[in-house]
Amino acid sequence: MQQAPIVDDVHGPVPAGSAGDLHVTQYLYAYPLRADQTLLFNTLTGAVDAVGSGLADRLQPRAACPPSLFSAEERGFLLERGYLVSGDRQQQDVAAWFDAFKQRLRSFHFIVCPTLTCNLRCHYCYEPLDNRQSRTTMTPAHIVSLLRAMDRLIEERGAETVHLEFFGGEPFLRSHRPVVEAMMQAADERGWSLSGISNGTQLDAYVPAFARHAGAISQLQITLDGPRAIHDTIRVNARGPAATMRSAATYRPCWISTFLWSCA
Ligand code: SF4
Repeated sequence: MQQAPIVDDVHGPVPAGSAGDLHVTQYLYAYPLRADQTLLFNTLTGAVDAVGSGLADRLQPRAACPPSLFSAEERGFLLERGYLVSGDRQQQDVAAWFDAFKQRLRSFHFIVCPTLTCNLRCHYCYEPLDNRQSRTTMTPAHIVSLLRAMDRLIEERGAETVHLEFFGGEPFLRSHRPVVEAMMQAADERGWSLSGISNGTQLDAYVPAFARHAGAISQLQITLDGPRAIHDTIRVNARGPAATMRSAATYRPCWISTFLWSCA
């Protein structure tokens, strides 16, 4: 005796498919709730249902399913909820979802890491030390290729607003200024808005560029780890505490008030 399939119905129904050429959706996740009950989750449709484990055990993702594997009631339920799909229906659904998604997107937010190198050694950093000490950066050729790819993506999507965010590593290192400024210039010429996240230690080198592109910069975020006493124990370089706080205090009158707060 098979168990009644639907115990709980969190989401609304999904469109039913035909009963021929059935297979189990690849988007099925099954979590045991108790010995006799399993939670089914369809990551494509959002359907969530608690069903008897006897039914769940017969659902092997991507497996072809002979109609005799399920009762008519079970088959109807599984089709309606999208756990069983027929033919190329699922591919069509995914393609339709992406088409609709593309239509909805009219803006682009690019995050560009000119380098993974950083002059600090924060102990909690997510970036491996090898990367932070690699001293590598994008080259002018990289920028040309990157811009070409970005322009193409923007055109394909028909994006109306574009934002470029600088991230790293530390994106605003003095030694990388030519590359970063070239990207800022190209972005500004294209009418994109700009932002960046920085440890603030070498931003002095970028003050003239920030002034040139003030109209494009929407936000510049400087990461501070609390009051100076705490910050200086965390944000360290090879020689000891970094100079972020001193930098912030030094440059605040001339540009931080303009770029960090006024434009945020
Ligand atoms: S400033 Fe950021 S990138 Fe640099 S070491 Fe600290 S957490 Fe890592």
